[in-house]
Amino acid sequence: MATKAELESASRHYHHYLVAAKTAIQAGNIFAAIQNSVASLSSIDGMMQFERKSNQREFNLIETIELILTYSPVIFDSESLDRLADVLKSQKRIDKNASADIAKNLKTARQQLNNSYQLWLHLLQFPNHTIEAAMENVGAPKEWLTWLVQYWEMQGYARRIELTGKTHVQVMLPQDEIVSAKCPGCGVVGNGKKWQFWNTNTCPKCKHQVVFVMIKKQ
Ligand SMILES: [Zn+2]
Repeated sequence: MATKAELESASRHYHHYLVAAKTAIQAGNIFAAIQNSVASLSSIDGMMQFERKSNQREFNLIETIELILTYSPVIFDSESLDRLADVLKSQKRIDKNASADIAKNLKTARQQLNNSYQLWLHLLQFPNHTIEAAMENVGAPKEWLTWLVQYWEMQGYARRIELTGKTHVQVMLPQDEIVSAKCPGCGVVGNGKKWQFWNTNTCPKCKHQVVFVMIKKQ
């Protein structure tokens, strides 16, 4: 059992990262907001225990988890969703003691990340399509997709252009960072731009259609 001092310290850490994450969101910096939210994950269990004991507080939403779920799809950040999934798995009390169904919301966020990628890829492949046509091609609510594109514009991933009275959205390639990724079938490792691994690729070695798994740099 953790001591009261340990729980109090966890609570302090959590609130430190929460404040940093909220400040980043207000400044429009999604990367920093998610980074700080992910940094808070290890303190959530202790924070919840501390606050339940001292304030009899019941939890509905855990704000840093909400930030990760809301904004990861915007910047195609599946890694942060994986981190959250790991914490929920190893600290089952978190989802149990929050009234929001975090596991279900995580599933929704993964679906949104897929939708986000579909829209982005469509705009990249068919730059002559209007934004309306591109959105119809993605099975997600239009209000959410409109929200998504606004955030892309803020992050410099997209810009709106008017052509013959119609709105088009031009997307830029985010994260040109070179990463290594591994074929889940045969294990061959290749290098490429991060976004190239989001989609299904044909493995150059085993020739299967696979989604490469990005591996951490040593
Ligand atoms: Zn392979």
